[in-house]
Order: sequence, then structure tokens, then C-alpha cells
Amino acid sequence: MRFEGRTAIVTGGSRGIGRAVCLELARGGANVVLCYAGNETAALETARSVEELGAKALTVRCDVSDAAQADALVKAAVEAFDRVDILVNNAGITRDNLLLRMSEADFDAVISANLKGTFLCMKAVSRLMLKQRYGRIVNLSSVVGLRGNAGQVNYAASKAGVVGMTKSLAKELAARGVTVNAVAPGFIETDMTAALTEQARAAALGSIPMGRLGTAEDVAKAVAFLAGDSAAYITGQVLAVDGGMAM
Ligand code: NAP
Repeated sequence: MRFEGRTAIVTGGSRGIGRAVCLELARGGANVVLCYAGNETAALETARSVEELGAKALTVRCDVSDAAQADALVKAAVEAFDRVDILVNNAGITRDNLLLRMSEADFDAVISANLKGTFLCMKAVSRLMLKQRYGRIVNLSSVVGLRGNAGQVNYAASKAGVVGMTKSLAKELAARGVTVNAVAPGFIETDMTAALTEQARAAALGSIPMGRLGTAEDVAKAVAFLAGDSAAYITGQVLAVDGGMAM
């Protein structure tokens, strides 16, 4: 049980990659605090699955782009489990459009949830991790943040920003036993990618050397590796989990 006695916060743990991360950490014995934006039914379903694995779960409704709510999320985790060892910044949204058609509101919404949300949660948890002299922060970037993608100027900016924040905070916290890394998934089958047209899916598939889309579990295993003690000497890195897409 590699996460026995550890407490993990997973933002956006109700569905998709976040849910798979919650289950992977629970399999290792972690207490899992999962937050969600509005889909309570899905969040409670994840919590139930965590408990069925013999781990403890706490479900918190929290908009990560709101500083007070991000602080309250960390506070709830500490009240329930005394400490926070792992933070997985997974919550994210897309509002795709070509630049000329992209509204300012859609730009702001994506930057706010994906980039500012990651900043606020890292800020909320950092003091505690410094005090503990232990912490693992894993941020969800994307292949799109590394390579760009037509129709995703806002999303690419947010995910490239996550890479810059990851490396910067890694340097700030390295000497105190806290690692900060990112995972950059490629094309993963979740609700986020379900809306893509058959044509877009075929095009994406053509750009994946391994010839298949990824699963949420593929990403969760990489997140769990970076969140565990096997990755103790790894910080400031971006691990692509994309079937070779970003090579
Ligand atoms: P998803 O299935 O759409 O799930 C998104 C999750 O984020 C949900 O749990 C949602 O909560 C939560 N969320 C959204 N906005 C939030 C907010 N403001 N505050 C708190 N929670 C919020 O997404 P996914 O595909 O699993 O993606 C997870 C992460 O991986 C994202 O950061 C995404 O950018 C990244 N990623 C995904 C892919 C891919 O191909 N799927 C590729 C690269 C990177 P509710 O359930 O309550 O709505």
C-alpha cells in the first residue's frame, strides 16, 4: 500500500482522468479528497468507488478558480485527515473556437479554470507542505500546451502556462521535500473529448504513433508514479502520456 497514511486532494475528481486518479491513489491506500464543479452525482459515485477499494473519501464542491473556495478545499482536507501529502490539479475545461471567433469570455473562462485554478490550489496547499517538509504536486498540462492546436488558443495558453508554473514552483519548493511535476496527456477518451467529430478523432488518431487513444487509467498511473516515493528525486518535469504524439 504505497499511499498508506497519505492524503491526496484531486481536483475535478468526479469524472474522467480525475476519477481514474482518485481510484489509483485509493488502490494504494490514500485518503482521497475529491472536488468537483457541479456534478454531484458523478462525484458521489467516485467517492463510493474509492470506499469500495477500502480507502476513505471526502467529496467537496469547489470552483478551483475562486480563491476562497480553493482555501476551503484544503481546509476541509486538513480537518478530515490532518495533512495533505498530494495535490493533483486536474480540474479543467475547454471552450474551443478559432481565434477570430473566440469570445473574450471563453478565453477568460479557460484561463481561469485551468491556469488560475492550478495557481490557487498550489498556493492554498504550499504553506502546509512546506511545514510538513513533504509534498507531491502533480499538475495536468496537455500535449496541446506543448505543441499548440488550431481552435484551442485559450486552452493551449492555459496548459503551456501550467508547464511554466510547474517548473517555477518546483524551484521554489525543491529544498523542502516538495516536488512539483506535470503530466501532459495526449488524446484521452473522456467526456472532454467525446464531443469531437469523427473527422477530428480520425485526424488525432493518425498523429498517435501507438495507433490508439489513451485511457484515463493510462494517465492515472503516470500521476500516481509522480505522486509516490519512487519519484522522490524528480521535480519540475513534464511527463507526456500520449502514445508518442508529442515526440
Ligand atoms: P472531464 O472529463 O471533462 O472532467 C473535468 C473535471 O473537472 C470534472 O470533474 C469537472 O467537475 C471538473 N471541473 C471543471 N471545472 C472545474 C472548476 N472550475 N472547479 C473544479 N472542478 C472543475 O475532463 P478530463 O478529460 O478528465 O480532463 C482532466 C484534465 O486533463 C483537464 O485538466 C484536461 O485539460 C486534461 N487533459 C485532458 C485530455 C483529454 O484528452 N481528455 C488531454 C490532455 C489534458 P464536474 O464533474 O462537477 O463538472
